[in-house]
Amino acid sequence: MGSNPPSGWRRLSIGIIGGGIGGMSAAIALRRAGHDVTVYEKHDFAGEVGASVSCAANGTRWLHEWGVDVAKGDPVVLKKLINRDWKTGEPVSVYDLDDYEERWGFVYNMFHRQYMHAMLKDCALGEEGKGRPAKLRVNHQCQSIDSNTGKITFTNGVTAQHDLVVGADGIGSVVRREIGIHPAKRPSEQSCLHANVTTEEAVKLGLVDYSQHSALEYWGGQEGKWDKIVLSPCNGGKLLSYYCFFPRSVGDYSSHTWGNDDRPVEELLAPYPDLDAQVLAHLKIGKEIRPWRLWVHDPYPYIHKGVVCLLGDAGHPMMPHQSQGACMAIEDAAALGILFSENYFSGDISEALAVYDAVRLPRVTRVQSAAAKAAYNINERIGFSQNKDIPTYQVEDEKKKLTIEEMNAYDMYKDIEQALAERRGAAFREKYIRGLPVGLELPSGIIIGQEA
Ligand SMILES: Cc1cc2nc3c(=O)[nH]c(=O)nc-3n(C[C@H](O)[C@H](O)[C@H](O)COP(=O)(O)OP(=O)(O)OC[C@H]3O[C@@H](n4cnc5c(N)ncnc54)[C@H](O)[C@@H]3O)c2cc1C
Repeated sequence: MGSNPPSGWRRLSIGIIGGGIGGMSAAIALRRAGHDVTVYEKHDFAGEVGASVSCAANGTRWLHEWGVDVAKGDPVVLKKLINRDWKTGEPVSVYDLDDYEERWGFVYNMFHRQYMHAMLKDCALGEEGKGRPAKLRVNHQCQSIDSNTGKITFTNGVTAQHDLVVGADGIGSVVRREIGIHPAKRPSEQSCLHANVTTEEAVKLGLVDYSQHSALEYWGGQEGKWDKIVLSPCNGGKLLSYYCFFPRSVGDYSSHTWGNDDRPVEELLAPYPDLDAQVLAHLKIGKEIRPWRLWVHDPYPYIHKGVVCLLGDAGHPMMPHQSQGACMAIEDAAALGILFSENYFSGDISEALAVYDAVRLPRVTRVQSAAAKAAYNINERIGFSQNKDIPTYQVEDEKKKLTIEEMNAYDMYKDIEQALAERRGAAFREKYIRGLPVGLELPSGIIIGQEA
């Protein structure tokens, strides 16, 4: 780093609560930084659901930096974002991703969650790769934590103590409660049912082969309504993962969880009498129809206390409409990996966690609020937010909309260096502000370094 290189690096013993996408990412980043990592997962395996999860360039870049075998995730590399008319299915707004890798250095991947999780788990626990393999302790449900000492008590009676504890225990986080955060939350006005369709079955029935588009496709979203169908192909295009949104007044699943019985297909179709017949025909052969409960959490005031910090959905649950939940968890993990690496860690855990808080909270909060807006207006979604020329384009505030540049031109190293320099009273002379290059012009009209 530019100023005051630290000399006090020491190997830490780190406990990660939760072995999901965020927990495994943190295990990879922190083992690579030289630390001894143990992941505690409440289930006997870190169960993932059968649905897609997207990983834009801001997430993919870290997978490459960490040496993750991305091919194991059997991704579809996205070529387009397509927003279609609700009734006719005609494209309304299209965002081309043809030059995406050229512009941002990394592709936009669409994974199956189980494959993505397995890919991360192998990298975290495997013998290969930098650092010592992380250990996984299953059937360890965190009950309480002492945030001063790092002592963890599990419901099975086991206790453990670590220098640093990372709470990656998802939206219902116990760790969050233990560091004194009690979320202001409410069920979303929107409900969601998820369904899987195999491309093979759809093609056999003579239906449109959406897998050929390699696109994230949306029906609706321009009318200021909660109704929206989101189609994402995964498993190399063999599986089509459908997220089907509708008003909560039509069906309330806010208290349902994954793992309950599948819902009947009639329930999936009921809210959509006038939906484009081509996509409706796909939904009619939908399998594994399950509710996805949607809760809106106001941003938290902090994400660390003592030697404990939060990561991923535990620290900033968000609506799914920017497809950034997993990416933000991966970015959190990357931030911890940098802050506790030899080049940046002075040996002072409280300094590192204060900077983690300072760097992560503003960025995740911005994405969180943009995700809530995009729930009922697709023009607020990264990518579509550049398409100002379509007749129905409108956003709440042009200057505040979230843009692809902010997501992908962001340099986390520079952001951390600036925050560390500020904390250490040192000068920061790089031409970056909060990780974005000075002079970068955003489609919102904002030029970094020239804001009023
Ligand atoms: C169906 C679905 C689709 C999604 N699609 C996308 C998408 O396309 N793009 C995107 O970016 N994001 C998407 N997201 C959001 C994204 O998956 C999450 O934001 C991301 O997985 C965050 O992961 P996490 O590790 O923080 O939490 P989780 O994945 O919820 O993992 C938490 C883990 O902690 C464990 N745990 C919980 N409590 C305890 C405890 N007390 N003790 C020990 N272990 C505990 C759980 O068993 C679980 O394994 C989607 C989410 C869902 C559910």
